[in-house]
Amino acid sequence: MQIIMTKLKYSSSGFSTRAIHTGHDPQQHHGALNPPVYLNSTYAFESTAQGQKRFLGEEPGYVYSRVGNPTETVLEQKLADLEGGEAALAVASGMGAITSLIWSFVEPGDEIIADKTLYGCTFAFFTEGISKFNIKITFIDLTQPEELEKVISSKTRFVFFETPANPNMRLIDISVISAIAHDNGARVIVDNTYCTPYLQRPLEMGADFVVHSLTKYLSGHGDIIAGAIIGPLEDIQKIHFYGVKDMTGAVISPFDAFLTIRGLKTLEIRMDRHCQSAMKIAEVIENHPAVKQVFYPGLASHPQHQLAKEQMNDFGGMIAFELVKGFDAGVIFMDNVQLAMRAVSLGDAETLVQHPASMTHVTYPPEERLKHGISEGLVRISVGLETLSDLMTDIKQALDKAI
Ligand SMILES: *Cc1c(COP(=O)(O)O)cnc(C)c1O
Repeated sequence: MQIIMTKLKYSSSGFSTRAIHTGHDPQQHHGALNPPVYLNSTYAFESTAQGQKRFLGEEPGYVYSRVGNPTETVLEQKLADLEGGEAALAVASGMGAITSLIWSFVEPGDEIIADKTLYGCTFAFFTEGISKFNIKITFIDLTQPEELEKVISSKTRFVFFETPANPNMRLIDISVISAIAHDNGARVIVDNTYCTPYLQRPLEMGADFVVHSLTKYLSGHGDIIAGAIIGPLEDIQKIHFYGVKDMTGAVISPFDAFLTIRGLKTLEIRMDRHCQSAMKIAEVIENHPAVKQVFYPGLASHPQHQLAKEQMNDFGGMIAFELVKGFDAGVIFMDNVQLAMRAVSLGDAETLVQHPASMTHVTYPPEERLKHGISEGLVRISVGLETLSDLMTDIKQALDKAI
């Protein structure tokens, strides 16, 4: 089976031009500026011969929406273009992207090496899910590339990481890690959710696949759950027509594809605002007496500030900080914000604050939390798009109470 790929018309243009125009030609849709939302599960064939050709992959076209939908295709063309990949596949969630990709390629006996700091459900998939099927998972500190040299072997299928890694914003050098992986025949998957292709393009630095939770910045409005994989065309076809079609069934809804297409139109201006506000907030809270340490790649005090400047176009909208007075101060801060919302997730217009020790990582014993770099007084902020002075006032007054 094959999906219609129209030629990209705008690829040499700037980021926002491509985010807005790639993949949709209004003249093929009655002049409609927005791509239609194709709310259908199946597609009618002109003749049996046509149906046969479509199933044999001899004629491009749609057959059933689990294996492709025209609204989804528009989104995929945009994502491939923006990340600089050959092809993209949009799926039901970020977890759908990670699991569909990995299930498509691993065999019993394979090994996956991952950074020790991962999004919680990715960590759970590795430790409690795929490892049941004789896939060995090794967690190391990928900020130290020599650790990878020590454990990588001919059995290593994938090296997987996020950068910056949640929640303490450690950075991993994409080109150095990719070079080591490739020397050993392994391929590299980067979860680029925190940065989006506007701030960081891992494929251009040697990574083989990028995965995204479209739920976050890319759709940008906190109204959907969706995900994506970007990589070489042949591999994306395998994930599409085997991984998603037969194994996970993690299909994106056409309406969620449409909302992501809509969100992408403002990605650049939203990210610029997220980055600007986050930088100012990071600078201010770094000097607040309630705060022990701020983790933000844009600060000169960040141990990998130099790498951040080389690898990222700007420093992103996520800040983590540690409070002097630990767990209790974390709770006081959280309970006293008035504008910021106490919520997990990230990348929305609303500023979201979360306290891992009492929320996402509450079930871990404190020693286990520390192993993952989560101290008791660590708070994470997804800086939103509100008026900066309002946000600053809110954060300062809540910090004043946490001294
Ligand atoms: C949210 C998130 C995911 C999971 O995405 P869902 O869309 O919630 O399935 C994976 N990785 C990172 C870094 C995330 O923030």
